[in-house]
Amino acid sequence: MARILIVEDEPDLVLSLEEDLHRQGYETETATDGDQGLKLGKKGGWDLIILDVMLPRIDGFDVASELRKAGVTTPIIMLTARTQEADKEVGLDSGADDYVTKPFGLRELRARIRAQLRRTSWEAEEVLKFGNCEVDFERAELKREGRPVEVTPQELRLLEVFLRNPGRVLSRDQLIDAAWGTGTAITDRAVDTHVFNLRKKIEQFPSEPRHLIGVRGLGYRFEK
Ligand code: CA
Repeated sequence: MARILIVEDEPDLVLSLEEDLHRQGYETETATDGDQGLKLGKKGGWDLIILDVMLPRIDGFDVASELRKAGVTTPIIMLTARTQEADKEVGLDSGADDYVTKPFGLRELRARIRAQLRRTSWEAEEVLKFGNCEVDFERAELKREGRPVEVTPQELRLLEVFLRNPGRVLSRDQLIDAAWGTGTAITDRAVDTHVFNLRKKIEQFPSEPRHLIGVRGLGYRFEK
């Protein structure tokens, strides 16, 4: 799972970012001022940093340039309410990789995040292939042996969580958090039903799965 550091001081925006990113299968941590953002950013272990410009203590431009000075190469997407082109240049000069102007749609931010992660990790590829299947997340399409297979948006989200975590055992709770959203009232049984349905769509022999493997007492593991 890609780990994203959010540096943002507006509580409402933090909440909606966290919720949306978790739903996309990302892990997040949040810093609510520039000082804390800088510390966490330097600590490392992030695949991406989302960095607000207007922050208490240290502004986003300085956080970005300090991180770059410290040798941190993690992709940075800057967020700002300002719209002037000059700010955009300052942002990119200070070491940001991309720039999103508030208010922005979560859809747009997601696309920017994927673009940044794609540069650094194969896990963020838009089209993933396994067995005789191919999933195009941008187009929300699943193909098997080259032919389109009907999937629900929820099945596709669940499949994406599996595909982005190959070889890793995922508990039903982890799957619920990542594919439905933290705190969603989804039962373990519903997860099993979705896995059952997905197997019928991606497995040659759904009763003897090769890709979506049940791990007794723990959850499921995806194998390519
Ligand atoms: Ca702010």
